[in-house]
Amino acid sequence: MNEILVAGEWVACERTVEVRNPYTGDVVGGVGVADADQVRTALRAARAYRPRFTAFDRSEILTEAAARVEADADGFAESICGESGLARKDADREVGRALALLRLCAEEAKRISGEAIPTDVTAARHRRTAVTRRDPVGVVAAITPFNRPLHQVVNKVGPAIAAGNRVVLKPSEKTPLTAIRFVRCLLDAGLPAPMLTLLTGTPEETGQALITSDLIDMVTFTGSADVGRHIASTIGMCRSTYELGDSGALIVLDDADLPAAARAAAAGAFATSGQSCRGVKRILVHEDVAGEFVELLREQAAALVVGDPRDPGTDVGTLIDEAAALAVEGRVQEAVRSGARLVHGGHREGAQFWPTVLDEVPRHVRLVREETFGPCAPVIRVSGLDEAIAITNGTRYGLQTGLFTERLSAVRQAMDELEVGAVIVNDGPQFDSPNIPFGGVKDSGVGREGVRFAIHEMTTVRTLVL
Ligand code: NAD
Repeated sequence: MNEILVAGEWVACERTVEVRNPYTGDVVGGVGVADADQVRTALRAARAYRPRFTAFDRSEILTEAAARVEADADGFAESICGESGLARKDADREVGRALALLRLCAEEAKRISGEAIPTDVTAARHRRTAVTRRDPVGVVAAITPFNRPLHQVVNKVGPAIAAGNRVVLKPSEKTPLTAIRFVRCLLDAGLPAPMLTLLTGTPEETGQALITSDLIDMVTFTGSADVGRHIASTIGMCRSTYELGDSGALIVLDDADLPAAARAAAAGAFATSGQSCRGVKRILVHEDVAGEFVELLREQAAALVVGDPRDPGTDVGTLIDEAAALAVEGRVQEAVRSGARLVHGGHREGAQFWPTVLDEVPRHVRLVREETFGPCAPVIRVSGLDEAIAITNGTRYGLQTGLFTERLSAVRQAMDELEVGAVIVNDGPQFDSPNIPFGGVKDSGVGREGVRFAIHEMTTVRTLVL
């Protein structure tokens, strides 16, 4: 398909980008490249449209869209598998999460409200009442990453529509096919076509044209910290939220339930082939229990089936492409050269990288200092919570941290001292529930997602004084 969606019309593009299956190398589709003129035309059309439908209408449309996604759950999972190389098990989980999220968006569409605030609180004794309401910000540009090709798109488009915004979606050029499938569900569910614009294409041309336009009211971006910084420096004062990367830590103290911690570590490090912003990217384990923990983690990794992503028995599919797998392999080799002990895995074939466990990883190596987007579980041995906190805070990121302990004092200290958006007790940083705030500090982002919180970001408080 080489068409983009502008004001309800599918418009042909002159050029296309190919989408390849990372496992087979086959071309699984192609999408149009929206050029700067087409981006401008699309944004003008989006701006010109005045949505008139009610919260009830928006809720009904989102509910109907969820029903359509559910009816096509197999098609969505196949599409995710085909263009991203994620294992079918991961893809099925993703469709389930996206559905839960979409249904919550449908509910929250009906809960957007304001408040009445008396003004007699100063010596001026004003006897007036201020009434606030939340209005849609207008035209929201949603830019999404390759990982979780459905969930990331629903995570932005769902709250934006719930809040009554017009959305301009620019999905990743690596995984646009699932996004197109979802756009069709929304239109078939009755979304007025000018509410949703789909601009596929390259980051340099399509993405750049979008973020340099003065026709957008907000950018909601999920992706890497470097691209996030580039967008922030380009759009200036335009409203924005950034959900960026992390070097997510899991801290395991000496009183931890070690089997549970090892299960959480494996799930957080290896699910979606380790390509998750909230995944486990380093494990800080108390030195007294590290030996036992590493053996439990090795058993978890060894039990995983690596193979054809389409096979329902496969646990770990490919990374997004061979270049990504090579980068992960390079960092693992560098860590080993610096003194880390390879306990399991470390093997690569094409875009596939085997679940890898390393122990005694030096804290300064790139594998753990930067965000490593691959199925690696690097263990760093620590003397206690103070050191674990210092290491966790020692990178440019701060999204979520998991902490295994039974001690309330340790939980308190972690909450007080960790520079992260959330502390998850007795689970990994991967914990997710669509109704709680999600977002980072430092280079992990600005603003919050989680449906209600995303709606707050995507609405403007306006005040009427009576
Ligand atoms: P990326 O930053 O390379 O690309 C993200 C999106 O930005 C893509 O759609 C891309 O086309 C677009 N883009 C790139 N340059 C652009 C430009 N100049 N103008 C406009 N758009 C541009 O990220 P990726 O490799 O697709 O995704 C992986 C990254 O995303 C990881 O760092 C991961 O941690 C992060 N991520 C964060 C979250 C979160 O919620 N915090 C969730 C998922 C992924």
